[in-house]
Amino acid sequence: MKRGLLIILSGPSGVGKGTIRKIFSEDERLNLAYSTSMTTRKPREGEQDGVDYFFTTREEFEKAIENGELLEYAEFVGNYYGTPLKEVNRLRDEGKNVLLEIEVQGATQVQQKCPDAISIFIVPPSMEELERRIRGRRTEPEEIVQQRLAKASNEMKMVYQYKYIVCNDDPQLAAELIETIILRHIELEEN
Ligand code: 5GP
Repeated sequence: MKRGLLIILSGPSGVGKGTIRKIFSEDERLNLAYSTSMTTRKPREGEQDGVDYFFTTREEFEKAIENGELLEYAEFVGNYYGTPLKEVNRLRDEGKNVLLEIEVQGATQVQQKCPDAISIFIVPPSMEELERRIRGRRTEPEEIVQQRLAKASNEMKMVYQYKYIVCNDDPQLAAELIETIILRHIELEEN
């Protein structure tokens, strides 16, 4: 069986990655599996352990780093986030195309380890619009909002390390563009 593709999806916090992912993951032709990350961040309202993230302690996370259990990891606004390696390998070996929704430092690590990874960066239509979306979430204190905004400006400087850049003016359209990109890569693999 052909090993599945590895797809990296990045973009600043608040850009709408989750919404877009939910739309294109419904397309069965993409044969996608979502890699659930580990994080030390506290769950937001409605988030489920083992679904949105594996929520864990700093101690457990550092143990996973030491034991080489992570494909990549990064510290983002005071919390660790990382991709469990074993699960990614298992899914790819089963022929699934594995999607990683990760920030830029982690994406750099994956690109170094897996140069064939398909990397996609989602940009907002403007920085003003991004700020409006981050504030619209209303789940975080002002200090964290400020940190996420500063981080977003820095992340936007990294777009050129990605193979594809997709603007989220409209989530449906952005999702369709990503579907087209992935389908094209599936086709290339088959030929
Ligand atoms: P949030 O706290 O908004 O869920 O996530 C913050 C940032 O961490 C987002 O940009 C998200 O894509 C990224 N992220 C989520 N999981 C991982 C991961 O496993 N590794 C890395 N490097 N970043 C992640």
